[in-house]
Order: sequence, then structure tokens, then C-alpha cells
Amino acid sequence: MDSLFAPIDDEPRGAPVTVPVVMAVALDQTYDYIVPEGVEVEPGCFVLVPFGPQTRTGVVWDRPVGEPGKPVDPKKLKAVVARLDVPPLAEITLRFAEWIAKYTLAPLGMTVRMMMSARAAFEPVKPRFGVTVVEGAADPGRMTPARRKALDIAGDGAIRAKSALAQEAGCSTGVVDGLVASGNLVEVAIPEKRPPLPDPHHREMEFTPEQHQAVHALRASVDAQNFSVTLLDGVTGSGKTEVYFEAVARALEHGRQAVIMLPEIALTDQFMRRFHSRFGCAPVEWHSALSGPERGRVWRQAATGEARVVVGARSALFLPFSDLGLIIVDEEHDAGYKQDDRVHYQARDMAVVRGNLGGFPVLLASATPSIETHVNARTGRYRHVVLPGRYSGASLPDITAIDLKTTPPDKGRWLAPPLVEAVANTLADGQQTLLFLNRRGYAPLTLCRTCGHRIECPQCTAWLVEHRFRGRLHCHHCGFSIPLPEKCPKCSEPGSLVACGPGVERVAEEVAERFPDARVALLSSDLVPGLTEMREIIRSIEAGGIDIVIGTQMVAKGHHFPNLATVGIVDGDLGLAQGADPRAGERTFQLLHQVTGRAGRALTEGRGLVQTHMPEHPVMAAIISGDREAFLNHEIATRRKGLLPPFGRLVALVVAAREKDVAQQVAREITRRAPRSEKIEVLGPAEAPLSIIRGRHRWRILVKAPRELDVQGYLRAWMAEVPPLKGDVRVSIDIDPYSF
Ligand code: ADP
Ligand code: ZN
Repeated sequence: MDSLFAPIDDEPRGAPVTVPVVMAVALDQTYDYIVPEGVEVEPGCFVLVPFGPQTRTGVVWDRPVGEPGKPVDPKKLKAVVARLDVPPLAEITLRFAEWIAKYTLAPLGMTVRMMMSARAAFEPVKPRFGVTVVEGAADPGRMTPARRKALDIAGDGAIRAKSALAQEAGCSTGVVDGLVASGNLVEVAIPEKRPPLPDPHHREMEFTPEQHQAVHALRASVDAQNFSVTLLDGVTGSGKTEVYFEAVARALEHGRQAVIMLPEIALTDQFMRRFHSRFGCAPVEWHSALSGPERGRVWRQAATGEARVVVGARSALFLPFSDLGLIIVDEEHDAGYKQDDRVHYQARDMAVVRGNLGGFPVLLASATPSIETHVNARTGRYRHVVLPGRYSGASLPDITAIDLKTTPPDKGRWLAPPLVEAVANTLADGQQTLLFLNRRGYAPLTLCRTCGHRIECPQCTAWLVEHRFRGRLHCHHCGFSIPLPEKCPKCSEPGSLVACGPGVERVAEEVAERFPDARVALLSSDLVPGLTEMREIIRSIEAGGIDIVIGTQMVAKGHHFPNLATVGIVDGDLGLAQGADPRAGERTFQLLHQVTGRAGRALTEGRGLVQTHMPEHPVMAAIISGDREAFLNHEIATRRKGLLPPFGRLVALVVAAREKDVAQQVAREITRRAPRSEKIEVLGPAEAPLSIIRGRHRWRILVKAPRELDVQGYLRAWMAEVPPLKGDVRVSIDIDPYSF
């Protein structure tokens, strides 16, 4: 790469030295700023610059980006105000930001903004002060018992906050102040806590022969110190986590940083404990529950290299690592890796890109890998490491269908007789049951018996969901809510409203009636107030303090309940009924497989019962027979035939506006301007699957292109033809949408 700054000597005398700077705003170009004398900048460093009427933070880039526009009159060039005392971004991080911008069509400024996601890291660190003892100090003068006690404690040389010392000594802070005044104690800055160093040899594991082979393959990929992608494909309970910990250990031995991405980081207490037992300390965590200053600290520690292993949500990928050498994407199939806000990206795919840029291995782990990853593994683009059996030797749960057409539940009930019997037997055996229903609340629909009115959200195309415990109706899309009405809002007939269909609250009601002595836990994100409560419930389940767990998606992931014997799926068809989304089959298969896989993981023999109206559906048949290959073959063939991902590429353009007509008209106008191409299909516009969200009407255009085609180039050319948007109209472009 060319040197960034022309040597000063070559410059004509007086010409200012300028640098290109990317601002963290929705703009796709660099701006030139003069570097004043005495300020030293380098690519990747953070600077304060005047931007419009404000002073804002930007990143010095190593080359100009975007349309230069008219040359700026040198007299109008503005100067860098200051360089921030923040570790600069590594060159790889700059390339990564550019890559994501180019791929997702987001402005570079927005991807840079993702790299600056910890605002506290850019504010001056306020040092905290504490006191420590002065060696060979002066005569303390008046030596009261309180002073003596405080001095004794401080005598160990540690740095303590004044209040902490006072508390330990059982005196007032005035006493501590007095000792500072007399010169016996001195005030010093408390150094920022460094994360502990994970020890790759803290605990050497013993592996089964199959696990050992997998460990060997993963270690080899880390030792090679070059780019590769490996799919670690193993049934639930096969020991994938223990196995990939060995890859982490190897990266640590090579002195490299590692990231482990998990879809639901805030809920993975068990994971943290296992990490601790393997490496002797906790990993550095990165997720949305961190406070601002904590985020700032993790951000800096990633940049300085103090953070060796970061375990985090999808955004952990954008931390400014100084020497990243391994990324693990656990539960790689999880929908949570897709971000659908501002910059639309798939974190699993971006992890692969990051590994490619950095020249290091990426591991994707799952018991139900995505179709995309499967195809890559089958075609040899990715390595494929398989763990075929459970570590405990336990077999996978036996799964049976309960055909609701022939054995329906009693009227007004949701659990069919065979499921009720299974729960009763499990209880009698002193083992646990999980009843899974992926629907929060009491009932998904409230209907008027008299006039047939269905209560809908006024802002979305969605029914309001009854939450009986709170006595309210809620919209699950926009958060709109009203108290439970006593009479029909339309015909005003009192007592005529009925709850239709089940949510988890309703299943809990039935369980309480049928099994009044069972200890029941209801796990639903709206009922568990916070992380601490969630962790408590999970611990109680682990410890056997609960007989029946009723839960939504929240219980599907990651947890390991040793005493869980029976899993009942209350509505197996739920995911399949959701419109025509071609990904519905994959998603339902993954979810049902993961949930039933919770059963019988350790000592017990597990079984799963799936209530369904269509046991012959290919997804259901594959779940019941446990024949994953059959499902994959069917799904892959369908995708190939329809040129759907990964055999073709999709892009979703969504036009949103308050007025339905406006959204539709603009969508039509945009579609009309699509450049003609023999290879690209432009479908729509049509109302988006959720056509109104938060009062905004959404129309969707789908673009279908062959894989090898430069779809970004096509879209850029297309968007250049679209006149500037007026009013509240917004267009979002989603490359590789999750739902299509
Ligand atoms: P997966 O991630 O594939 O679902 P885990 O890594 O969670 O599987 O392993 C399942 C259980 O078996 C965990 O409790 C784990 O600690 C245990 N386990 C797996 N492999 C070993 C091993 N080699 N030695 C001891 N315990 C193991
Ligand atoms: Zn709504």
C-alpha cells in the first residue's frame, strides 16, 4: 500500500498536510482535514474534527473513499481539532468496515459506527482515586484507635477507595482524610482492572475417541494459522463446546485473541461456568446488558489485547481486536445472527469474511446447521467435522407425533391425552418435563362471539395478544397495549369476548389444574423480569427444584437440564403455518430438533412428543424419524430448484411510509426503474409479510440473482436512477434477507 502521507519535504512550501477522515454518520465517503503542526495522526486513529456546525469524532482512513465531488478550495479546508487518546483501529478493521459497507450497501460511516459501539471508550477515562500507605511515614501526630486501625489495614499496601477503607476500619471518612493530611496516607489513581488471563492448560480434558478426532482437526486448523472454515456438526450433547474450547486453548497458546459468538449471551450462565472450569477464569463478556462504562472497558481491552477471549453477541465481531486469531460461531444457524436494523448483516457470514481478511480459522458449530452452511460443507468449501453421538452415551430422545386429527385434546384444553399421560408418568418417575410453545401470553386472538370482531393492533397488521397475568392486550410487533376490555369494542356487547388459541400462560393454567402438586416454572421473556431472576430459575431447574417447565423460545437454547426426561411440543405446526416463507421448514426443523434435544441429555432416557395436525409433512416426518439427511436432501433440492439461497441470491427492498398509497406508489416507481437484465428477476412490489409495522406501511420488492452476479453493482446502478425520496418515505436494502 502507498504511504499515507506524502513526506513533508516533497510538499511545496506552505501546502498543508491533509488526511482523509470517515465520520460515523450515514455518509459513504471520506473528508479531508488539515493536520495541524504538533498533532500526530496515523491511519485508524480517532480524531475530533469540525463537521457542519458540530465537532464530531471520526477515524483517519488510509486512503480516500467515495465520490470526491468538487475539489475543495484549500482555504476552506478545516483542521483536525485533536487526536483522541483511544487505541487506533488496526488496518484489518478498516478493511473489514469497507468490506461490510460494500457488501451490505450501507454507507461506510455506518459500518464505522458499528466499530465505535462503545461510546464510553471515546470519552476521557475519569480515574478513580484511592488511598494507600506511605512508607516510612511522618509521625501521625494524634494516634487515636480509629486512626491506628485504618493505618493497620492500609499497611498491606493495597489501594482502596477512601470509603472502602473507612468501612473496613469502621471509622468515618474524616479519619481517612486526617491521615492523608498528616502524610501517612497518599491519594493515588486506582488502576483499571485488567481481565484475568485464561490459562489454556488449566484443566486438561479427557475426550472420547470421536471427540479426540474432532479436537485434533480443530487444533490443526488453528496451528495452520491461515484462513479456513470448519463446520463442527454434532448432535445436542455431543460435546461441541468442550471440543471447540480446545481450539480456543490453542489460539491462546499461539498468543492470539479469540471470540466466541453466542446467540443468547445474556442467558448463558452455564456456558460461563464451563468456560471458567476449563480456563480458570471468566471470559470477557460483550452484550447489550453491559453498562456504558463496561462497554468502554471491553472495547479498550480488545484494542490493547488485554482481552484474550471475548464471549459475545453478534456485535462482538466489530470490537477493535488487535490480534484476532480465531472466531467461533456457536449455534451458527440461529436467526439472532441476522441484524435487520440500520446495517443489515448476517454476523455468521461476516465472521467468515473477518477470518478471510485476518487469515485465521473460523469455526461454525451447530446440531442443526443452516442450509447455507450445509451446502458449503457438502461442496468442500468448508471442512466438516462430525460428532455423531452424545458424550454421555445416552441415545437421542425417541420422538413420536401426536396426531391432533385423531387424538385431539378435550374441548377448551391444549394438551392431548397421550401428552397428559406422558407428563403424569414423568412426574411419577420423579423426572422433569418441558412443555414448549413458542408463543408468549395467554391467547393469540380475542374474538367477539356476538359480532365476530377480532381485536387488532391499530398500528400493525397483527392481532393483539392477551396477557392475562398482566390483564392487558399487547401487540408483539410494536408494543402497543390496552387493558383487557370488558365488552366488545365494536358491538359493545358485554361478556362476549373470548380468548382463542393457546399461549404459554394458558398452558400453565391447564397444567396447574391437571397437576396441582407439581412444581411449575413458566419461562417467557415478558414474565421473567431480568437476568438475575432468569439465572435463578435455570439453577433451580438444574437442581431439580422444578417438575414441569413451560416455556417459549427462551428455553430452547443452550441449557443443559440433566433431569429432563420428557419434552412436549404443544403446537408443532406453529412455525410452518407462517405464510409462504421458504425458510419456514428449515427454521421449524431447527427449533423442534433443538427443543426435543433438551430431553435425556445425561442420565435419563429422553423422549419427545410433538402435537401436530400434519404428521406427514416432510419437516415433521424428519423430526419424528430423526432422519436429518432426508430433511436436508429434500430442503436442498427445493432450494436448488427454486434458485433460492444458497443457489441463488436474494435481496429485499422494503419501502415504508405512513400512507399506504405513498409506499405503494414509490415501490412501483422504484421497480419501474430497475435496470433490465436477463439474469436478474425483480419480483413485486407486494405488501411485505408484516405489511404494517408501527403505523408504517411496507411494500417489498424481491430481487433474485444468480450467485456469481455482482448484485451490489446492479443495485447501486439501480438506486442511482431513483429520484431522491420525499417526506417520510424510507427504503431499506437487505442483502441475503433471513425471511424471504
Ligand atoms: P453440545 O455443545 O454439543 O450440546 P456440550 O459441550 O454442551 O455439548 O456437552 C454436553 C455435556 O457433556 C456437558 O455437560 C459437557 O460438560 C459434557 N461433556 C462433553 N464432553 C465431555 C468430556 N470429554 N469430558 C467431560 N464432560 C464432557
Ligand atoms: Zn402493533
